[in-house]
Amino acid sequence: MSELEDARETLKDALEKVNAENYFERLKNPERFIEVNFPVQMDSGEEKVFRGYRSQHSTLRGPGKGGIRFSPNVNEDEVKALSIWMTMKCAIADIPYGGAKGGVKVEPSKISESEEKRLSKNYIDSIAEIIGENRDVPAPDMNTSSKHMAWMMDEYSDDERKLTPGVITGKPVEAFGSKGRDVSTGYGAAYIIEEIVERQGLEDVTVAVQGFGNAASPAIEYLEEKGLKIVAVSDSSGAAYSEKGLSYQDIVESRQEKGSLGDRGESISNEELLELNVDFLVPAAVEGVITGENAEKIKADYIVEIANGPTTTEADRILAEKDIDVVPDVLANSGGVTVSYYEWVQNRTGEYWPENKVLEKLRENILEAFEQFQNEDRGETDRENAYIMGAEKLVDAFESR
Ligand code: NAD
Repeated sequence: MSELEDARETLKDALEKVNAENYFERLKNPERFIEVNFPVQMDSGEEKVFRGYRSQHSTLRGPGKGGIRFSPNVNEDEVKALSIWMTMKCAIADIPYGGAKGGVKVEPSKISESEEKRLSKNYIDSIAEIIGENRDVPAPDMNTSSKHMAWMMDEYSDDERKLTPGVITGKPVEAFGSKGRDVSTGYGAAYIIEEIVERQGLEDVTVAVQGFGNAASPAIEYLEEKGLKIVAVSDSSGAAYSEKGLSYQDIVESRQEKGSLGDRGESISNEELLELNVDFLVPAAVEGVITGENAEKIKADYIVEIANGPTTTEADRILAEKDIDVVPDVLANSGGVTVSYYEWVQNRTGEYWPENKVLEKLRENILEAFEQFQNEDRGETDRENAYIMGAEKLVDAFESR
């Protein structure tokens, strides 16, 4: 099944579960989709034409929201599928946004920084007509970062002849970004883990984390500070295990000195990490790591997904049979999009919040969504429960509007 068919099928199933199949027609295609072909002057003086897309899947619950990716694999169906997932994610996280996604077909490693800057600006010019702080608010995604967002905000503001920071989020803090955004994805997941520990009265809690990147690191640092034992961590160089617990600071130092986890803990494979007997397993690296092949061997009690799509559908069924609780990606990693929303609120009110206020609001919001998720049991797997919860929010919005 293609990515787009999969997204549609998921949406359809969730709508059926809330007896609202009739809304599928409204949601199976994006409200608006554009393809743009725009020229960029290369450093050589030559002009090259690039292809980009923006898919506004839904503006039912608020302006479209979704990242812009730069990748040679960007294509129409992928962008449409990802925009459907964003509609679901914003509904599940309960933030007042719809769903959108954009991208440019380009190999970023093959262009210079100045070419990338012109590409960013020309792409935003090409889609300027359909985005806007009340219409559709892009953000960073694969191979784009705060730097690109600042360039794009500048270009859009020039077009509009007024400073418009709220047109895009994920900007640098010095250029109207929000404090706390860099740690938001990891902290959001960590707040959920902390909540489970408290509710279940768990003691001597152990955690294994696959990945040590932007999303995983803040979660590891936070959980260690709260007294949880991080017994295993991995990156693309391998995995380290210590029954006594690894120290976040030690790992950071080892990676700085040796570019790897080095001799911190006992060396294990990434596969072994996934099968450890721990309380929490946190996949936070790449997709498709928990599959029909290894799901049977997972011994963790809880899986909290920071990575997007780490678990296959087949694995989901096995995990449900084994009674392993899964907090799916759409909820567990929604801290990033939630703080994106706070950035937009700050841009539009002109009032900028200290980091502790941002993080307090994030905790409140994500735990409220988690509470709703815990109360949903109409699905056969935890992931289906999250989608049902999202679908219900969409249906409520259709009916009340
Ligand atoms: P990143 O590039 O900063 O980090 C990725 C980490 O995964 C690195 O530590 C890398 O060494 C490790 N890694 C790569 N391949 C691996 C493998 N085969 N086995 C084990 N580790 C491996 O990326 P990130 O921003 O931290 O994103 C990680 C995941 O989280 C992605 O799925 C991303 O879509 C998702 N996510 C990130 C954010 C965010 O705010 N950064 C938000 C939502 C979702």
